[in-house]
Parts: sequence; structure tokens; C-alpha cells
Amino acid sequence: MGNEDYYSILGVSKNASAEEIKKAYRKLAIKYHPDKNPGNKEYEEKFKEATSAYDVLKDPQKKATYDRYGHEQYRQQSSSSSYGGGGTSSGFGFDFSDIFEEMFGGAFGQGTRGKTAASQKQPGSDIRYNLELSLEQAFSGEKINLKFTTLVICDKCHGNGSEMGSKPTACPTCGGRGSVRYQQGFMTIEQTCSTCNGEGSINSNPCKKCTGSGRVKGEKNLEVVIPAGVDNDSRVRIAGEGEAGFKGASPGDLYVFVSVKHHKIFRRSGSDIYITVPVSIGKAALGGEISVPSIDGVLQTVKIPSGTQTGHQFRIRNKGMSVIQSKNKGDMIVEVSVETPVSLSKKQKELLEEFESAHDEKSNTPETFSFLKKIKEFLGK
Ligand SMILES: [Zn+2]
Ligand SMILES: [Zn+2]
Repeated sequence: MGNEDYYSILGVSKNASAEEIKKAYRKLAIKYHPDKNPGNKEYEEKFKEATSAYDVLKDPQKKATYDRYGHEQYRQQSSSSSYGGGGTSSGFGFDFSDIFEEMFGGAFGQGTRGKTAASQKQPGSDIRYNLELSLEQAFSGEKINLKFTTLVICDKCHGNGSEMGSKPTACPTCGGRGSVRYQQGFMTIEQTCSTCNGEGSINSNPCKKCTGSGRVKGEKNLEVVIPAGVDNDSRVRIAGEGEAGFKGASPGDLYVFVSVKHHKIFRRSGSDIYITVPVSIGKAALGGEISVPSIDGVLQTVKIPSGTQTGHQFRIRNKGMSVIQSKNKGDMIVEVSVETPVSLSKKQKELLEEFESAHDEKSNTPETFSFLKKIKEFLGK
């Protein structure tokens, strides 16, 4: 840099008025400002050039010198002075942040400062509460009392963190802005004030109970309504019931993570409930009725036709699980498992032997029949 003269850098004529120069610079400064273009070296350079040019042209005395000596000469003279910081001691140097303050009244970085201040108003964390429910509870929904220890609003200072009657005073380091600026090369860096942690005020008389944080450890007792139909991956959010915020900032939320316990007789698949029922050989062969409870505890009667096989399913509509946020219910699926009798008496053995001798493979057990046929084919007989 440095070869282009200041007028063409700003894009103004040599006869431009102070107002025109200011306007031209302002336009460039907004366009090339490093805050807006982080990491863009080219823009950073252009910003630097424009600022150097403006620093000279805005000052009638410097401008006169510049006009008289010309660009090259002026540059040579001013090159001995340091760039940026400490420029005020040298006639040709400049203090970048001064120009900036003057130009924009500290408008740049305002956004950042706002953000900093907001992040210092530290809200409370969210809390995860693991809740284990029985399948029956998940089916019916529950009002549940949750008890847990967390940070709650300090009852002594009501969350503001100050002893009764004392008021926070403006931070002497940042003058209440919550941030401080310093110069690094030609960049103005804005940082959260470390004295007040960005709050802009200092608590000279912090509450003794919470040491100024506005919150203390305490126990929470909450009644929470768990809706019917929740499942293993359900989360119930209770807004504002998490940790209390720092110095009265907004609280976090409470998330109840539901897990549903394994059930002795039912299996759940989404909104359907499965139950496997052992059925005797006699009942499966002859047909009959079986009674099984549904999840609501009511006995359901299922008609078993003669010749029912293991694995056969009977569907009972609307007797399954509750569907969350709906009046609908899933189905109940009753699956038959034919049980082979054990510990036979002599009499039973005789009867079964008699039954076997009268057994006709093709008509009584067609599955066995067709299976044996396939085996024969396979063996080539
Ligand atoms: Zn307190
Ligand atoms: Zn401060």
C-alpha cells in the first residue's frame, strides 16, 4: 500500500469539501470494516488505507501539508511514526479508534456488546429427570410428584444477589458498558469487562446467603402430568422448572425423560400390545375360548377355532396402548402358543398312543404330510 494518493483512495476530487471526504470515508469504512468481514485480508487492507487517507484529509493542517508535499513526500515523512497506537504524539500518526469514535459514535461493536451483555445474564441450565414408568402408567398417564435438588431462587434476596436495601453500583472499569475496548495494531478489540463480568455493575454488598448469585441449592417438589401413551423415547418438557438463572435471569427448563419398564405379560410395539398365550393341545385341536386381560385390566375373551396352530394371532381392536395426544388406542394382539403336555400319567399315555394309531397324516397333519413329501423328493425316492 501507499502508492495510491489519498484522494483516489477515498474516491474524491482534490477540491472535495470536508463533508464530501467524510461521506466517502464513511461509505468505505462501513463496506470494509473488519468486524463485518472477519478474516478478509484484502478488505482489511482497504479499510486501513481508507482510514489512513481520511486521517490526513479530515485534518485541515495535515491536509495542507499533504497537498503541499504530495503523496510520496508525505508518506516518507510519516513513515517514521508508528501506525495506529500512540499516534497522537506524532504529527502524522493517528489513533484509529479516535477516528472511529468520532465518526460512528461507537456504533460499531454495539451489536457485539449487546450480545456480550445478554450472555452475561446467564440463564439457568435445563435439567434432565429420568422417570421410569410401568406399562400401565404409560397407558393411563400419570400425575407424578417429582422431588429433586437443584439451584432455586434465593429467598433472602429474591434472586437479585444484593443484601436488602443495597443497590449495585456502576462498574468503575467499564463505566457500566459491560465491555472494554483496546487497540491491537489497527484493530479495536472489544472484550467483556473482567471486573464486572460484562454486567456493567458491581455488587458492593452481595447477599450473604447466595454470595451474590441470586440462587441457592434447594429442593423442588413438582407435580408433573405425564400424558397417556408415552414411550421409551418420550420427553416431557416443563418450561421454567429447570435451574434458577444467575442473578434473577430466566430459569432453565425441566425435561422428564421417560423410560417404560419391561412388563411381565405384555410387549409393546408402538401403540399395539402383544400377549402370547399358551394353549393346550386339546383346546387348540378342538377349539374353545381363552380369557386374557388387556392392559386396562379387563378380561377379554378370545374364541379359538378348532385346529389353531402356534403363532396364530388374534387381533382385538382398540385394546392396545393409548396414543399420545389422541383419544385413539392401538390394538391388542393375542398370539397362541400350543403347549405340548408333559409329565403324562399312564392313562394319558395310553390315550395318546391310541390317538396316534388312529392318526391319518394326510388329513390330520397336512403340514407334516407335505413336509415329508418334500423330504422324499429331496432324497430322490
Ligand atoms: Zn441471595
Ligand atoms: Zn465492568
